[in-house]
Amino acid sequence: MIIDAHNHPDWHKHDFDAFIKNMDTYHIDKTWLLSWETPWGDYSPDSVYALSGPILGGENSVPIPFSRCLEYKQRAPERFILGYGPNPHRPDAIDALRSAVDLYDVRVCGEIKYRMLYDDPDAVDLFRFCGEAHLPVTLHFDYPEATRSPKNYPRRNWWYGGSIDHLDNLLSLCKDTAILGHAPGFWAHISGDDQAATIGYPSGPVIPGGMVEQLLTKHKNLYCDISAGSGCRALSRDLDYTYRLICRFPDRFLYARDYFDNVHQELIEKLSLPHDVLELLMHGNAERLTQR
Ligand SMILES: [Zn+2]
Repeated sequence: MIIDAHNHPDWHKHDFDAFIKNMDTYHIDKTWLLSWETPWGDYSPDSVYALSGPILGGENSVPIPFSRCLEYKQRAPERFILGYGPNPHRPDAIDALRSAVDLYDVRVCGEIKYRMLYDDPDAVDLFRFCGEAHLPVTLHFDYPEATRSPKNYPRRNWWYGGSIDHLDNLLSLCKDTAILGHAPGFWAHISGDDQAATIGYPSGPVIPGGMVEQLLTKHKNLYCDISAGSGCRALSRDLDYTYRLICRFPDRFLYARDYFDNVHQELIEKLSLPHDVLELLMHGNAERLTQR
């Protein structure tokens, strides 16, 4: 059994049929299908090629509307676990998420990828509700300096979420909520160096004791979404370190892609993890976090 714990409908030119075919090619049984509902202007025009939201919603569009996740789920209920990540600043965010759980069997709050600090009181309020409702929360982090745009408009950079210190604070404030770290602003902290704030995809050997390891040690509610180039590159920097880290926290890592290639499975094969650890990584942790 394999579960991809992070992907999106219509993403990178994959429609429903291409998506299912791609899952079959890589032996993926189920996918967490996440929305991304940040307001127009808060996502890069350079990413529009990979999205259907701007076509469907016009000027009021969000990049990945929940309605597209739902459409996929209704066409192949056994292949998808639904995620919905409303904008925490919406006054009705909690009610909307509660309705999505009741009406559509949403099991994940995500993707949360907004230009706000994730320990903002509105966000904490939403994420505490997620703890009560047993919904894991998938958070996307990017730093301003590491995402600086050559243009000033519509944005000078594409930061989301705040710094690793905001994640640390949030984990303390929402102890009953399972929180998944994801994206460059999280994974650059695999190493105990100072590259994360300025370089999206740092390279070179890992200095043990980075913030990812520190926060996993400190907070039992932190989980690691290994998806995208950020997760794959970070975990490829030092395979011996990655092996030790995953074996030390076997119930905290989730296989995930955020794309349609197979680089994460190739990386995992190279690690030769013990069988029980591998089972947790490939599906066990994802199942435990979303079971009802
Ligand atoms: Zn993301």
